[in-house]
Amino acid sequence: MSGQEEAHPPADHRSTYRCPVCRARFRGSAACSRCGADLEPLMRLAVRGLRLRLAARRALLAGDPLGAREILNRARQVHATPEVRRLGLLAAWWLRSGEAP
Ligand SMILES: [Zn+2]
Repeated sequence: MSGQEEAHPPADHRSTYRCPVCRARFRGSAACSRCGADLEPLMRLAVRGLRLRLAARRALLAGDPLGAREILNRARQVHATPEVRRLGLLAAWWLRSGEAP
């Protein structure tokens, strides 16, 4: 995988996550701005989830709903976001209908 989108996640990406200890909003630093908890594992997980979502979207755009569904199954285990759900519904519908929208 390569491309700018991974190096520069969308700006709204950070606010989706909260510190697991004190629930302070995630501000993109490796330590919580409020309680100082180590947020690096959370960040790694978030980036992995984002990469899987982007890969699933690329697969759908390339006309590969089966591949997209497999990627989304993995994405769901990492971080189940509304976008993962929406893409999953799209892939499932596509596979049922058997043709491109
Ligand atoms: Zn905290």
